[in-house]
Amino acid sequence: MRCPFCHQDNDKVSDTRSSVDGFVIRRRRMCCVCEKKFTTYERIEATQVRVVKRDGSRAPFDRGRLRQGLERACWKRQISDAQISTLIAQVERDIDSTFETDVQSQFIGERVMFYLGELDQVAYVRFASVYRQFNDADDFIKELQRMEQNPDMPCLSAEYLPKRKKSLFPKVKRNRNEDRGLLDPLE
Ligand SMILES: [Zn+2]
Repeated sequence: MRCPFCHQDNDKVSDTRSSVDGFVIRRRRMCCVCEKKFTTYERIEATQVRVVKRDGSRAPFDRGRLRQGLERACWKRQISDAQISTLIAQVERDIDSTFETDVQSQFIGERVMFYLGELDQVAYVRFASVYRQFNDADDFIKELQRMEQNPDMPCLSAEYLPKRKKSLFPKVKRNRNEDRGLLDPLE
């Protein structure tokens, strides 16, 4: 931290305290050059990014709404709250590391589907049906055919895929027959 008095970048921290709620950390510093003291505050920067929708309108990123959508997609699947939280946190990290101010809603949708595809195929298709706005059974069948052809990698727009090689949910093993059973409309 540059000294506000002599502008040298050479200080040491003499005291560190966190606020009552723990969200702010106050550091008392002393400049090693002019020996004057100053204080810095450290706080978490909340995601300020805005989501640009298909129609071009912008709205603040709504974590609660994303969670609702995911919970709906994961309904009655063996997916824990912790896994949903992990997925949301990863998507937020992806947004934060890629965009400063605005993020296309398509980016969020594709990332969510990518990670959901690793987790559970039924939840993936449910989410896709809402996100891709399936109009009829044809759209649904096309998505299922894409999954059949490429079961390990949901067919997403390449430009929105993360460059990671490690899976977010490495221990999840899918039961393909169980997935099929739950998609049976007669059940
Ligand atoms: Zn100084």
